[in-house]
Amino acid sequence: MPRDRVVIVGAGIAGLVSAFALAARGLDVTLIERAAAPGGKMRQLAIGSAQIDSGPTVFTMRWVFDELFAAVGRKFADHVRLRPLEILARHAWDEHTRLDLFADEERSVEAIGDFAGAAEAARYRSFCRDSRRIYEILEKPFLRASQPSMGRLIGANGFRGLMQLPQIKPFSSMWSALSQYFHDPRLRQLFGRYATYCGSSPFTAPATLMLVAHVEREGVWSIEGGMHGLAAALADGAKSLGATIRYGQEVSEILVSCGRANGVKLSSGERIAADAVIVNADVAAVANGLFGIQARRAAAAIPARARSLSAMTWSVAAKTSGFPLSRHNVFFSGDYAAEFDDIFGHDRLPHEPTVYVCAQDRDAGNAIEAGEERLLVLVNAPANGDRQTYDAAEVEQCAQRTFGVLERCGLRIHRPPETTRVTTPADFNNLFPATGGALYGRSSHGWTASFQRPGARTRIPGLYLAGGSTHPGPGVPMAALSGRSAAASLMTDLGSIIQSPKTAMRGGMSMR
Ligand SMILES: Cc1cc2nc3c(=O)[nH]c(=O)nc-3n(C[C@H](O)[C@H](O)[C@H](O)COP(=O)(O)OP(=O)(O)OC[C@H]3O[C@@H](n4cnc5c(N)ncnc54)[C@H](O)[C@@H]3O)c2cc1C
Repeated sequence: MPRDRVVIVGAGIAGLVSAFALAARGLDVTLIERAAAPGGKMRQLAIGSAQIDSGPTVFTMRWVFDELFAAVGRKFADHVRLRPLEILARHAWDEHTRLDLFADEERSVEAIGDFAGAAEAARYRSFCRDSRRIYEILEKPFLRASQPSMGRLIGANGFRGLMQLPQIKPFSSMWSALSQYFHDPRLRQLFGRYATYCGSSPFTAPATLMLVAHVEREGVWSIEGGMHGLAAALADGAKSLGATIRYGQEVSEILVSCGRANGVKLSSGERIAADAVIVNADVAAVANGLFGIQARRAAAAIPARARSLSAMTWSVAAKTSGFPLSRHNVFFSGDYAAEFDDIFGHDRLPHEPTVYVCAQDRDAGNAIEAGEERLLVLVNAPANGDRQTYDAAEVEQCAQRTFGVLERCGLRIHRPPETTRVTTPADFNNLFPATGGALYGRSSHGWTASFQRPGARTRIPGLYLAGGSTHPGPGVPMAALSGRSAAASLMTDLGSIIQSPKTAMRGGMSMR
């Protein structure tokens, strides 16, 4: 029996998940990726013999991948080695002011009590309770749904749904909500930072994003081989289920005939026919016509002012001294409002940035010998990489400010230039065209923003979208959910006959 042919454009996490899920259902899957390896933003940079994770580093919501592998009769933990972290992150304001958050909520309560007093610790408990509630309300009708819909969100629980609406706090900003939970401005800053996980400012994002704090409290894992190991495991898994993956090849056009997507054209001129196409590139690339004029209709443009954060990153192999690094570390700027005003208000690098450092050789507080260690240093930046070149002088000025914040907090990174690689918003724009370097699609500013992300189905039959710029949003597990939704929508629409002897699960794989 001929199998339905699917072409997937891009081997980011969503494209890989779609390929894995559809190959398991017996479809004829071809995945085209322009880079030389899978993962997209989950990329590694080589510095000497060191492979440095230079994209996402915080791995959460492992249940998304547990479910994906279980659905094909496999165990995620057999393919990806995970280690739960005791310390979620170490936070510093200066050389003497530090606070660790722990996977164990009680330990965090105790640490916050020591740091800011018993009343603040009690308010942290309320914050945990309310952020968990937001997550629980949104998981099924929103995060797992293939399209964002306020109607579904409310309708899922009838009158109760309407009553629950205020509990997800869509109409107050994260910052104002945090002011009610925390009287200590340092704690507001710490928990406000979760808005940046969605590429947004805590001053304009809805308080709904408090749910990110809950997601992190549910567990953070480190992955053996780095985050890139996750991409490699999915690519291997998809191939073992019959998918074909072609690296180093670029899709230049999505072919549309009689109003329906029916294949892709590569920049080499080759055409690949398909019954359906999933695009894992950023929706901005589709909307800007990078896949042809016809495909453009599939996505609405993202105005530059609605773009999410970009970043300036340093991938470094270096010796460090003076600060006891954990795996995930955050060094805060003195004026959070000014930082976001620089980025979103003035479209410029922050005068004093908050700095994230991932010390990739440190798990659960392991001590590092005197040798070099692998670091990713990241500051938030405006997504203007298509308008600004970021010359050496500007990069150096940003480095001075960034590493200056670290030194103020006691951390010295002894980095010779030959073991450092910088990625600017302009570089991110080259890697992910039409984005300006925005790493999370549209920003989540205002309560309607999350509903403006496109869902899996487009107005062109046979053409689907998946990835961090689509619903339910950015982040590795969320983009993975979008890949699963795209696969499920496509299967429903093709009405395919389930024919997967490989999984021995006739009629069995649930992708919801
Ligand atoms: C520096 C950084 C730090 C981050 N930190 C975290 C974190 O700690 N935790 C977390 O969960 N998330 C984090 N994120 C966000 C997370 O990485 C992304 O949301 C997620 O990886 C996006 O996946 P995606 O499916 O959208 O695909 P992408 O990663 O965007 O990949 C899309 C793929 O499509 C390919 N492609 C595009 N156009 C074409 C074409 N024409 N032909 C062929 N191929 C094409 C690209 O080459 C790319 O490989 C971070 C991101 C960055 C950059």
